[in-house]
Amino acid sequence: MLKFADAHCDTVTKLNPQQLAWGCGPERAHLDLPRLREQTQLQFMAFFLRQAPPAEAWDFLRACWRNLQQATALNGGVEILMDLAQAGRPRQAERTQLLLAVEGLDLLAEAGEAGAEELFRLGFRSLGLFWNNDNWLGCGAAAQGPADTGLTAAGQAFVACAEARGFLLDWAHASANSFWQGAALCRKPLFVSHACCAELCPHRRNLTDEQLRALGQSGGWLGLTLAPAFLCQTGQAELADVVRHIRHAVKMAGEAAVGLGSDFDGVDELPAGLAGVQSWPLLAEALAAAGLAEELVERIMGENLLRFLREY
Ligand SMILES: [Zn+2]
Repeated sequence: MLKFADAHCDTVTKLNPQQLAWGCGPERAHLDLPRLREQTQLQFMAFFLRQAPPAEAWDFLRACWRNLQQATALNGGVEILMDLAQAGRPRQAERTQLLLAVEGLDLLAEAGEAGAEELFRLGFRSLGLFWNNDNWLGCGAAAQGPADTGLTAAGQAFVACAEARGFLLDWAHASANSFWQGAALCRKPLFVSHACCAELCPHRRNLTDEQLRALGQSGGWLGLTLAPAFLCQTGQAELADVVRHIRHAVKMAGEAAVGLGSDFDGVDELPAGLAGVQSWPLLAEALAAAGLAEELVERIMGENLLRFLREY
């Protein structure tokens, strides 16, 4: 059976432990642990901290972290991935792996490297430097033109340290100049957890063909996201739009460089016909129907991300 791997969702900041562990509650989220276990091998769980002041952001992060620990214990069929080299190889067979990620490092403005060490200790392995706003590390995706001054000196120093510490650095939400400076600085391949192709939909969060090529040449990986506004300019996206973006990303970055970065529970709407994590097989079918080889579909649906993480 086809297994999936997804590099972005915001679910942990939306659900309480019982909802997450059992999938109960009046409002149905895009995913919960029972649905994940059916077909997902690895799911990134991002902690989006809403640009709160650092002290508040840490409190929120710790509260969500405790919720996730509790949900993991209640569910019993998932485990947190601590060693990227073990992606796709859970400690206990059949378990779904969760990879903890922070989206926007504003909370480290005061704590810096010591704060990053605390995140590592808590099990976080992926660091998204930015949400859309600028922060102490540099410019986020909202900065354009002359306002886009790229990474700060502190940001450049932090990137080198975090990479050496073994964090996966996520360039989703970075401004163009931050991305390019990061590309020049990083020794490891470029990783963008959730974005689409600017050539097909000119949105500030999407990657240009030049960025896609650089990502591919670095041995990097992009998670194609399901945010309708990134997929088409009308904002009324369909499955065919996701297929279109995936094919374009593969063409520019290469067959090994593309996978899934849904943004489940981070977007209000999904493309028509998709309801959540249970809908991944529909996308696999649509890719096959569009003429992609079965082996390539499997790689896009999960294998590419697992291999990328193991080799990072
Ligand atoms: Zn995001």
